[in-house]
Amino acid sequence: MQLPTYVLEILKVLEDAGFESYIVGGSVRDSLLGKFPKDYDIATQALPEEIKDLFPKTVPTGEKFGTITVLSERPVEVTTFRKDGPYRDSRHPLTVSFSKNLKDDLMRRDFTINAIAYSPKKGFIDPLAGKKDLRAKMIRAIGNKEERFQEDALRSLRAIRFCSTLGEGWLIEEATFKAMKNTAFLVKNISHERITDELIKIINGLLPTKGLILLSEISEKAFGQKLEIVNLESMPPKIELRLSLILKKNPWLSQWLVLPKKTRKHIEIILTDYPLPQNETELRHLCYHVGRDYLDDWLVFRGQKPQAASLRQIPINIEDLAIDGFDVEKLVGKGPVVGDILIELASLVRENPSLNTRESLLKLITHKGEP
Ligand code: ATP
Ligand code: MG
Repeated sequence: MQLPTYVLEILKVLEDAGFESYIVGGSVRDSLLGKFPKDYDIATQALPEEIKDLFPKTVPTGEKFGTITVLSERPVEVTTFRKDGPYRDSRHPLTVSFSKNLKDDLMRRDFTINAIAYSPKKGFIDPLAGKKDLRAKMIRAIGNKEERFQEDALRSLRAIRFCSTLGEGWLIEEATFKAMKNTAFLVKNISHERITDELIKIINGLLPTKGLILLSEISEKAFGQKLEIVNLESMPPKIELRLSLILKKNPWLSQWLVLPKKTRKHIEIILTDYPLPQNETELRHLCYHVGRDYLDDWLVFRGQKPQAASLRQIPINIEDLAIDGFDVEKLVGKGPVVGDILIELASLVRENPSLNTRESLLKLITHKGEP
């Protein structure tokens, strides 16, 4: 397995100090699948204090749980081998005890494909046969399956997410899926932020609709509502478009998601119904109502061609008018009427963009007192 120099260096520092150390988790999985790992996680015998002593720049990102981030060319999470104690609230282990034994650390992980360790010195260490499951494209929980999902219900969403992100042919092993269904009622204990993260990973994955289908199989137990499946591949891979499609059919899901205000607004606009524009004038009015920034998503969501580029030079809003509020004030005086006139002028200009000259607009005001 090829590792970047900065990762090899961190492993060497740990090993030279006498601590067995390995790359683990997603980076090993993704490398074996021929994907470029996003980041590298290291598991080590060294204790957090010892990790901090060995490297000049560290951040104690999860020290209680054994994780110290070593700042190198890129940050690398270095975590002491762990053996998790019993779990509180299906999410957090009550206690974590550190271990000197790699196998303990691999056993506490979620799926066999995420429990392969690699070191340049020792090669792959794979006591749970994760490589075999990688070849078989199988998501298999480690140990007692129901217990593992009871400990941490997020694992169910992770299993589903991997079916979308890893691509064609991946399946959740039967006993694992059965355990997921039996423990799905615990999903409501997961923080909404994490639910959102996993849903977004499903949506951004290679097979998002497959992810939704799997999610729908646990959704009644997990969320108290049946998830209606939508064809996410029918939308371009843009999060707002795909979330809109899901939420249109499943408005109840919104309460389980934590989305930035901006994203919520974007989705709300996409889902607001206006008649489809039948001509250029109607298109300009639509652009005014949904806003230039959202026009294309509104159209694409309804199977139409994007049009914002063709309207770039066309006056739509008050700001696009050839005159401004001061010009209007000079003619009619101060007051709310100024705004009303500008709104009316913008509307006239959308009807007939050639009216958008200073001369025509001023004329429109003076002739009528108001346009
Ligand atoms: P990605 O980074 O692509 O989202 P990942 O598998 O690397 O996927 P991380 O959250 O980075 O996920 O976790 C790193 C590793 O930690 C996992 O591969 C797995 O071994 C372990 N892990 C993560 N979350 C859990 C969990 N909820 N229960 C048990 N082990 C976990
Ligand atoms: Mg990772």
